[in-house]
Amino acid sequence: MVERPGLQAMIEPVVLFVDDEPAILRAIKRLFRQSPFRILTADGSTDALLILQETPVSVVVSDYSMPDRTGAELLAMVREICPGTVRMILSGNNDQEATIDAINQGAVSRFLTKPWDDHSLLREIDAAVKIWQSRIYIDTHKALLNQAALIRFMDSTQLRQTPTRSVVVVIAVRNLEGLQQNLGVEGLFRFLTVLAPTYEHLVECQMLALLDNQHFCGILDLSDTDHNASSAIQLLLNAFPANPVVNQQEHRIEYDVGYVEVGPHDADGLRLVRNAQLAMQNARNEQSNTVVVYDERMNATRGRQSKLEAGLNSALRKEEFTLYYQPKIALSTHSLHGAEALIRWNSEGIGGVSPTEFIPLTERSGLIIDIGEWVINEAILQWTTWFPDSLSGPAISVNISPRQLKDPKFLQRLESTLHTHPIQPSLLELEITESMMVDDMDRIVEVLKEVRNLGVKLSIDDFGTGYSSLSYLSRLPVDTIKIDRSFILPMLESTEKLTLVRNLITLGHDLGMQLVAEGVENREQLDVLGEFGCDVIQGYYFSPPVAAAEFIAETSNILTQRTLGNCLLSANSG
Ligand code: C2E
Ligand code: CA
Ligand code: CA
Repeated sequence: MVERPGLQAMIEPVVLFVDDEPAILRAIKRLFRQSPFRILTADGSTDALLILQETPVSVVVSDYSMPDRTGAELLAMVREICPGTVRMILSGNNDQEATIDAINQGAVSRFLTKPWDDHSLLREIDAAVKIWQSRIYIDTHKALLNQAALIRFMDSTQLRQTPTRSVVVVIAVRNLEGLQQNLGVEGLFRFLTVLAPTYEHLVECQMLALLDNQHFCGILDLSDTDHNASSAIQLLLNAFPANPVVNQQEHRIEYDVGYVEVGPHDADGLRLVRNAQLAMQNARNEQSNTVVVYDERMNATRGRQSKLEAGLNSALRKEEFTLYYQPKIALSTHSLHGAEALIRWNSEGIGGVSPTEFIPLTERSGLIIDIGEWVINEAILQWTTWFPDSLSGPAISVNISPRQLKDPKFLQRLESTLHTHPIQPSLLELEITESMMVDDMDRIVEVLKEVRNLGVKLSIDDFGTGYSSLSYLSRLPVDTIKIDRSFILPMLESTEKLTLVRNLITLGHDLGMQLVAEGVENREQLDVLGEFGCDVIQGYYFSPPVAAAEFIAETSNILTQRTLGNCLLSANSG
């Protein structure tokens, strides 16, 4: 392996000789002058333990008879403090019995005798270093460390002694599920080893470990470089192949990256890794290859998240969910076009929690499948009591998470819901987001077609915020596009923004779809959207989402006040 200064010095093999006879230590130093290893000497066990506190040592070779402690006692202590070290005794023949006893107790792996033969001592040390390397590396040629070794290096004071400009970075490989299915756990581990940059590609400031079947972790020492954390991390990422070939097939690999800056008092390696991991988890919600730095608040958020997750588990059973309804108004007739059902959670221990906070958690845990089913049932139940036997009246919309659509039982459940409740299927609309098209579009399109065959309507929610491309829009069996409120909100600020909204409406109409504008808050927006030919309006201008009782009582009031006519009445008679 190439010799390098900097952080790499930390994984350079270090051999420590302990002997109370100065002449012996001098002879050893002479013998190892040409050696590729760093040689340290100590004149007794106290001195040796001091060195071990400061420096990660690979091999300890100790005399047996020493004034303060025997070599066997010292090495038993070394085993406790630095379990990765290889421990040997080098002593006179008269100590043989005691040292063999030490070997049997597991404190010592090898017993060498004085006087020694130079060649065989050199060979013995070489072999010991190889044993040490096999203990710390997953792949010796790549210098790819294992988790235990990496954390031990972080725990040792050396990392903090460098003028403390180092970061710990965690790199998670995305979408490994498919590969794991193909290759098995062992195969995946080998694949990741292959994916790791070779030693030549790492620069001197970098040390890399494979934590498990998904995560790499690195230490980057920035003290002697011109790099800041992000550019150094970019350098490391560049060393990873983007399109590795597995079983003759090219794979596109994407990463989530998080890092933490190492402070002068960060003596806990495991904690550093955990915090970098937490930052990485925050990167997951972003585009791939986004790098997120750890922030103390993440630990606080994490505490709240666990609390929310625990609360969500029993929320359905405790009937803590309710639905709010927000009216949608048809612009041409000024009548109630429909409503969107929006979930609310009032947790016993936590209080009211916004769906933007808890829905993502239920998606991750899979709870959304049951919660989503409850929403559909509850909304239909409510709607059919308000508008019984309606054939073409206002429609009720519910939001559907990607996770629900991927559930193999989704269609079956939807179908049985439609059988149980006396609702005209065309009065049910499912709002889906563009993001669900990202993976496996073909399958999703199939599911959507089946939904359509049941007579249920489909609408694209938050249009314009995701991966919208015109080519995919025309492939989707949807009836309605909802222009996201982030377009409506600033649309009067500039002609560009205004033109964008107009173009979205024209585009949707060209594709034969109905257009809904969400987040309409004032009269000006309403008027302009009317001019552009937008079909339906939803937003605070008419009403925020309200509880069921209020919806039926107040929707008509709100609408009359806005001089749009008695929408509820006209809807009821329709
Ligand atoms: P969304 O589907 O885009 O729902 C519209 C959100 O915009 C609602 O927030 C609504 O209160 C808000 N809104 C409506 N009009 C205005 C306005 O004029 N101005 C502004 N600034 N905001 C307006 P809410 O109820 O907090 O819901 C947030 C998100 O949570 C929803 O976004 C939806 O993605 C998700 N969500 C809500 N209920 C469900 C559900 O039952 N299932 C699933 N999967 N997701 C849901
Ligand atoms: Ca929605
Ligand atoms: Ca929306």
